Amino acid sequence: MTALHDVISPITEKKITAVPALNAEETVAAIAKSVKAWETWKKVAPGDRAKLLRNFASLVEKNIEVLAKLEVENAGHTIGNARWEANNVVNVLNYYAGSPERLFGRQIPVPGGVDITFREPIGVVGIIVPWNFPMPIAGWGFAPALAAGCTVVLKPAEVTPLTAMKLAQLGLEAGLPENVFQVLTGSGRIVGETIVQDPRVRKIVFTGSTEIGTQIMAKCAPNVKRVTLELGGKSANVIFADSDLEKAAASAPGAVFDNAGQDCCARSRILIEKKAFDKFMPLLEQSVKAFKCADPNLETTEMGPLITSAHRDKVASYVEESLVAFRGTAPSGAGFWFPPTVLHITDRKHKSLSEEIFGPIVSVVTFEDEADAIALANDSEFGLSGSIWTNNGAKALRVARGVESGNLSVNSHSSVRYWTPFGGFKKSGLGRELGPDALNAFTEEKNVFINTEI
Ligand code: NAD
Repeated sequence: MTALHDVISPITEKKITAVPALNAEETVAAIAKSVKAWETWKKVAPGDRAKLLRNFASLVEKNIEVLAKLEVENAGHTIGNARWEANNVVNVLNYYAGSPERLFGRQIPVPGGVDITFREPIGVVGIIVPWNFPMPIAGWGFAPALAAGCTVVLKPAEVTPLTAMKLAQLGLEAGLPENVFQVLTGSGRIVGETIVQDPRVRKIVFTGSTEIGTQIMAKCAPNVKRVTLELGGKSANVIFADSDLEKAAASAPGAVFDNAGQDCCARSRILIEKKAFDKFMPLLEQSVKAFKCADPNLETTEMGPLITSAHRDKVASYVEESLVAFRGTAPSGAGFWFPPTVLHITDRKHKSLSEEIFGPIVSVVTFEDEADAIALANDSEFGLSGSIWTNNGAKALRVARGVESGNLSVNSHSSVRYWTPFGGFKKSGLGRELGPDALNAFTEEKNVFINTEI
């Protein structure tokens, strides 16, 4: 009999339900079904595949409120964020529903004949998802994979499986053939590793920690398995003295404390030009103290609890009281609460500037000039996201070109837009998701030469 795993709410600390914790044999059996389903799914006409994805999108759209409430309860996300996340799945499905009918090859001029290329679906794809954004991260993988003609086995994080399970059920209701999109719940060590090591799974899309991501990359090597990695971050919010400091300070809390800082794109380092420090800090204090950490079911809440008690302990270990500049507030009582916390760091080698805390802690550090800002922003093994605040357009572009990071925004904190490529430099990842080219990661390019001089 399949073992069960309890799912706990981070808001109440109470059990919500229990879900299957599959063993290795059950995982292997599910992969076998995925291999079989691929034989027919890859032959479904592009227009029919597109229609099924649009049906899937519209069923998810009808269930936005159901999915959002599940995520509030299971992950502690604010209701506003959770609705956005469910809607992101709708948008991503609709966006990639447009691609099966446009999955063009090329005709390449060659002597002696005609040369054409095809984009062939890669096969069974394993998608391994973390707990911080269970819905969007799943969708960024499964929507383009299904559109490309791949079948999917998706492993959600142990602690946040509920929305993924609901999405799989909606996919079936929308008419996806059985076993084309399966959600396999269970541990990383058993279900995750089985998916990674099974040679019939042709590609892994992993989002999670850099530590596990590098292990997965190594385990993919013996089978030369394709891999996309979306890993950790320590992104810089670079604020120049010539920027609109009020706006920069007003938006900085959202850029790092959104989702309680459990965001790979969190701007967890604020780099402020030295001459603007004294003006900026009181403005930041005001906006941090106004940032509302409360019951995530309330429409006005901007930040909920952390995901687990163990994670809260890890986050707390980064707080040295002597470095705290100021803090916001958080509820007490049941729930894994942690207040927004601002550290003022003068030692550039301090671990709060290099390690991903993944909680509501931001480190503020000063820089001297443009070159120093770029050097400081790049003084990290990560390179995922970041922001640049200045009213000088040329400087904004120079700094954007200088910062080694996959996703930058100027005078804004946007990171993820489904129309544009998303991914990391350095140890933040390998490959890109989203954007117009996402299907390339789920297809192999095949070249065919036809001799016309026979
Ligand atoms: P994690 O690495 O612990 O786990 C991620 C997933 O991998 C989970 O589903 C887990 O069960 C599975 N897993 C664990 N061990 C495994 C193994 N040996 N083989 C196969 N699968 C295994 O990460 P997490 O704690 O769930 O998520 C937080 C991390 O994710 C942070 O570092 C964060 O920066 C990163 N993240 C990155 C992005 C991005 O797009 N770059 C997005 C969100 C989160």
